[in-house]
Amino acid sequence: MTIGIIGGGQLGMMIAESAKKKGYKTIALDPNPKCSASYVCDEIITGDFNNLDNLKKLGDKSDVLTYEFENIDALGLDFIVKNYNLPEGIKPLYISQNRLREKENAINCGLKPVPFKKVMNKNDLELAIKELGLPLVYKTTTLGYDGHGQYLIKSLKDLANIKYASEGIAEKYLDFDYECSIIMIRDKENIVHLPIGINKHKNGILDLTIVDKELPIFQKIIDSSYNFMIQADFYGILTIEYFVKGNEFYFNEMAPRPHNSGHYSIEGASSSQYDLLVDYLTNKPLVKPSLKYPTIMKNILSEDYDKLSLFKDKENIYIHDYHKLELKPRRKMAHITFTHMTYNTYLEKYNRIFEEK
Ligand code: ADP
Ligand code: MG
Repeated sequence: MTIGIIGGGQLGMMIAESAKKKGYKTIALDPNPKCSASYVCDEIITGDFNNLDNLKKLGDKSDVLTYEFENIDALGLDFIVKNYNLPEGIKPLYISQNRLREKENAINCGLKPVPFKKVMNKNDLELAIKELGLPLVYKTTTLGYDGHGQYLIKSLKDLANIKYASEGIAEKYLDFDYECSIIMIRDKENIVHLPIGINKHKNGILDLTIVDKELPIFQKIIDSSYNFMIQADFYGILTIEYFVKGNEFYFNEMAPRPHNSGHYSIEGASSSQYDLLVDYLTNKPLVKPSLKYPTIMKNILSEDYDKLSLFKDKENIYIHDYHKLELKPRRKMAHITFTHMTYNTYLEKYNRIFEEK
């Protein structure tokens, strides 16, 4: 059995690692022959994701397909869905590709985002400020990731710096208590989810996921997220990011693929997000995963990449290097998982190792 992965980034690499462990072959399609997945997959098809011939080539060689990358032309994938086996379909991908569609769909399926308005130009943004008040966050509706294409507007002075996209949204800046995300996998029979972690961001990029104890609000988040998945008629893997403030939780965004906040599950859970996705793709029953021990995932960006080797061969510390050849500012290069640790022990340990000469 061969699993074809559209995209060969780190998520594709980790899907392939799990597939390999379970005895399946993998092929990824990526423009870069030396992409992260190339270190694990049996084959890489080098080429653009939006070229139908490349997708067909991948489809012809695979028994089942999945995507690890969101910015594929969802409508172009239509042909692939009709002619090959891509069980997740294109609906969740299409919806997640545009923040307006995504938030409207969330509302229609029972979730509550922070108040927002569509913004096409400066005039719309000024109206949004009148209606929603400050501070606001302006975001492009498409192609945003890791905080790209976002502006925090604290005062009218900040309007001068904004580069308007052809379509954007303005949403209320929420002074949340914390962020968390739920990763669910649904097949025809069942929905399962990974233990929920708390996400800490630095400059708009995920820095840490801390998975420790269940907070009382998590059960409400789980129930609403399962209900969302059913109402939206989504199958396969889906991540939902939330902002939590007091007893309220707000939908931020969703991703129909494995998620950075689920990397911890490779060591920290009885099955990882990748294992469960592979089980889904290969029609194996989905078994509810549990947390094995308190676990913390730390993202390593380009700026700290030279420190990665300091963390090698240490007890309860696991390095995942994405083998990216090019260091770009704030690029995710690797992650490190710390098991059996509370947040405070992690901090002490991380800082001590990081400062080693
Ligand atoms: P991306 O696609 O870049 O992940 P997000 O909308 O998730 O975009 O924004 C990235 C991060 O920026 C969030 O995880 C959160 O930390 C912060 N952020 C985004 N929108 C808001 C908001 N309305 N209020 C407060 N913080 C926000
Ligand atoms: Mg996000």
